[in-house]
Amino acid sequence: MIPFVDLQGQYQAIRDEVRASIDSVLDSGQYVLGPEVMSFEEEFAAYTGTAFGVGVNSGTSALHLALLAAGVGPGDEVITVPFTFVATVAAVRYVGARPIFVDIEPGSFTMDVGQLEAALTPHTKAIIPVHLYGQSVDMDPILAIARRRGIVVIEDAAQAHGARYKGRPVGGLGDYGCFSFYPGKNLGAYGEGGMIVTNDAQAAERLRMLRDWGAKEKYHHECLGFNYRMEGIQGAILRVKLRRLDIWNKARRTAATLYHEFLKSGLVTVPWLRPHNEHVFHIYAVRVREREALRLFLQKRGIQTGIHYPIPVHLQKSYSDPRYPSGSLPCAEAASREVLSLPLFPEITKAQIETVAQSVTEFVGLQSVAA
Ligand SMILES: *Cc1c(COP(=O)(O)O)cnc(C)c1O
Repeated sequence: MIPFVDLQGQYQAIRDEVRASIDSVLDSGQYVLGPEVMSFEEEFAAYTGTAFGVGVNSGTSALHLALLAAGVGPGDEVITVPFTFVATVAAVRYVGARPIFVDIEPGSFTMDVGQLEAALTPHTKAIIPVHLYGQSVDMDPILAIARRRGIVVIEDAAQAHGARYKGRPVGGLGDYGCFSFYPGKNLGAYGEGGMIVTNDAQAAERLRMLRDWGAKEKYHHECLGFNYRMEGIQGAILRVKLRRLDIWNKARRTAATLYHEFLKSGLVTVPWLRPHNEHVFHIYAVRVREREALRLFLQKRGIQTGIHYPIPVHLQKSYSDPRYPSGSLPCAEAASREVLSLPLFPEITKAQIETVAQSVTEFVGLQSVAA
């Protein structure tokens, strides 16, 4: 069997260090926030080239609080993409703002920035570019428009820890960078976690209040806050794992390069890399018309795959909006029908990649014989 991801395998490799870090938190009695979370905030902010990190309990909470800190609320519009995990758009709805969708580029699966200008209105308050699958959005055009119009840029970097755009780490390119440490992400906790990074000291202070009941001082509630605090144990674990993130991302890139070599001449479409991007391959998605048949073919051979994502957000029942009927965002809709995520994790072996690639190639051969 070739799994889609192998979290236990990675854990075994760092088991002793992780257990020692958990023990130290248990011994300290600081179970929520505390010194381990504070150190992790500093280390992760530095990793993303930003001044401040605010640890929270999920990537979704990070997006929610970034929108609140940016002052986004009812009557405002927030531009993002429909081809993302639903949390990106849920956060916009949590603050009472309206999601405005821009389609994706078919090659990179990220926001088609050429369509951004047409989506702007006097109500546009923020833009949330999503660095999907581990690759940065083309940020310069977004930042130029945002600066000109006084619009806030909140990066959804939940899938892109360590990815770079023109040499600079994602998360620190806009006003706020939001990360998730859900176990399967490139940097994953052993539980839930998230962080907002920013260079704005005032925003960081506001975020710290919002995540902890709106209080700077205990029991003095200055604004409506939330219980979105990061746990001490997760902070300690993430510190251990952050030290290995670059090695793991490199292993992911090596695996992706191998897939590319094996698959590039075939009939599936391999991921397209924007030249100045350093991709961290959270997901390695190919495009193929006969997606369901290929998925079944691989499954029968013990190869697990994923689909990220089978339904674009604008076609989800709870997100429907008459402005975005079926067919209105064609590139996102086509991607939802055709993407298939192949097994990729830092510990995957060359032999495993070869087996997957051979099976894909064999499937494609069978398809062309049948046609
Ligand atoms: C995982 C993810 C989120 C949400 O993060 P959680 O920690 O699961 O709340 C948001 N956006 C994207 C693109 C994601 O992949």
